Amino acid sequence: MAALATADLLPRPDNVPRRGSRHRLPCPMCHQEFDLFAAPWCGHMHNEPSKLCPHCDACSCSHPAYDEPGFWRDPPARFRANGFERLFLLYL
Ligand SMILES: [Zn+2]
Ligand SMILES: [Zn+2]
Repeated sequence: MAALATADLLPRPDNVPRRGSRHRLPCPMCHQEFDLFAAPWCGHMHNEPSKLCPHCDACSCSHPAYDEPGFWRDPPARFRANGFERLFLLYL
């Protein structure tokens, strides 16, 4: 339908990122706040990849808790939607 296509081109008030698509938290390494979901994945493949902090440029793989099974849980749906297969508790 032409009407539908036209409507898709109009600016929409809900065009801003929805709540839940961002997750700001202090970096586990340098403690400066960053958006976890927007940060790039690190390239480490030895276990779970982590996120690169835009401030210190470090991923969380070398964090002392990263190898501790007690610091891992099944991720909530919005973490899964952002590529997390397991959740590092310091990312909450
Ligand atoms: Zn950092
Ligand atoms: Zn890493």
